[in-house]
Amino acid sequence: ADDLALDPWGSSTVSDYRKLFEEFGIESFEDVLGDVPTPHYLMRRAIIFGHRDYRRVLAAMRDDEPFAALSGFMPTGDPHIGHKMVFDEIIWHQEQGGDATALIADLEAHAARALSWAEIDEHTKDYLLSLLALGFDPEAGTLYRQSTNREVQDLAFELGIEANFSEFEGIYGFDGETDVSHMQSVVTQMADILSPQLDEPKPTVVPVGPDQDPHVRFARDLAARTRYFGVTEAFASFEVDDEDERALLARAYDALRDPDTDEPVRCVAAADWLADADLTDADGDARDRVVEKLEAAGKEPLRPRVRFLDRNATDEAFEALIDAVAGEKRVFEGHVDSFEMDRDAAEDLAREVEVAHGGYGFVPPSSIYHRFMTGLTGGKMSSSIPASHISLLDDPEEGYDKVKAATTGGRTSAEEQRELGGEPDDCPVYELYAYLLASDDDEFAERVYEECREGERLCGDCKEQAATLMEEFLAEHQEKRAEVEERLEAADIELES
Ligand code: SF4
Repeated sequence: ADDLALDPWGSSTVSDYRKLFEEFGIESFEDVLGDVPTPHYLMRRAIIFGHRDYRRVLAAMRDDEPFAALSGFMPTGDPHIGHKMVFDEIIWHQEQGGDATALIADLEAHAARALSWAEIDEHTKDYLLSLLALGFDPEAGTLYRQSTNREVQDLAFELGIEANFSEFEGIYGFDGETDVSHMQSVVTQMADILSPQLDEPKPTVVPVGPDQDPHVRFARDLAARTRYFGVTEAFASFEVDDEDERALLARAYDALRDPDTDEPVRCVAAADWLADADLTDADGDARDRVVEKLEAAGKEPLRPRVRFLDRNATDEAFEALIDAVAGEKRVFEGHVDSFEMDRDAAEDLAREVEVAHGGYGFVPPSSIYHRFMTGLTGGKMSSSIPASHISLLDDPEEGYDKVKAATTGGRTSAEEQRELGGEPDDCPVYELYAYLLASDDDEFAERVYEECREGERLCGDCKEQAATLMEEFLAEHQEKRAEVEERLEAADIELES
């Protein structure tokens, strides 16, 4: 069970990813893979294994609608091959037409990891150079560091109003010893995740490891809390097990069918009003104002005490009604429904209304989850154990040596290996092929796997091949880093604090 205590700042490993599906509601990526236009190899190889609400991002991708992808990097050490996965995910979404953002979580590094600003500056540049070298387009995308982004900090402040200490306790295990800046860095991170939506609401995906899921869930919660206009809640309540609520909405729905054709009527209705018998005086005021609006728009509400139908709705009347309803956000939250629209259209409408009335209209952020790479020495790949990982800044020869020294899933002797085959599923070297060295070449990755399983591949040669590929990769990557240096200098981000 300890494996499931997801702690973004801890060193938890997740041994059984399937439990995540049941326990935390993360969905299997396999279910959506078929809807990805040209899946990244990390998706095809199930290294990206889970998602939360990724369908709405895919729908935007498919329909050429705006969407965003964002990831933050805490500059606490060298970027390594585990980070490369996340860089690749961001870059892939950018290539699919998304607004891509990479941010440097320098406030978090300073508050949660106590790094000095000088250290942070050094690592910041290293992360960004690797990101650009791997293909991120800084002109098309957004780069920023938390400490200098006023907009994000303002949003963090607003979100902080919606968050309280008990939640920090519950979600992150914060206690009386936790310093205030650490808490502030959490709301800043929430603001990071929602910031691509500040110009307009749009589906946003955050590629993360499963240990970061608490952040994703909290950001989704906060996005919902800043909403005040509840079309979706009304739809959702048809599905919840609240009899009264359901009955109310069902009555509303019935009332809104055209008695002649039995077709749904185009209208926006507040369910409270429709169940008119119980209207309170407070509701009456609001109702009168909607009636006025409708009349001003040249529409005569039918049986105004009971319901408001817009039988032959003109767009103006329809909008006037929406305006009126939105103006009464407190009264009608959760009770506004829009018929003759599908759920997505209704959500979009709700957002439009909300933004028009000064709200954020945030779409709850989506996420995709990748497996962690095993350390080269077995166990977890860790920035603080140099032999366990390959830094993108390692000398190519050093990279070669580290692969050669890695543990494998091989048998005790060559004979045994030929007879029984190796165990690629438990082999950090095979992971290097699958996660990185085979790159887009699925056939190559599969061949390594099969040859290993069949005992046709022995660890010595296999490591030699991997080590050579790693050496080549590092040399090439570092050459590219040097090439993008100027481009980074020209990019819109402060490299020094
Ligand atoms: Fe790992 Fe290669 Fe040995 Fe198989 S042959 S166990 S993939 S090192």
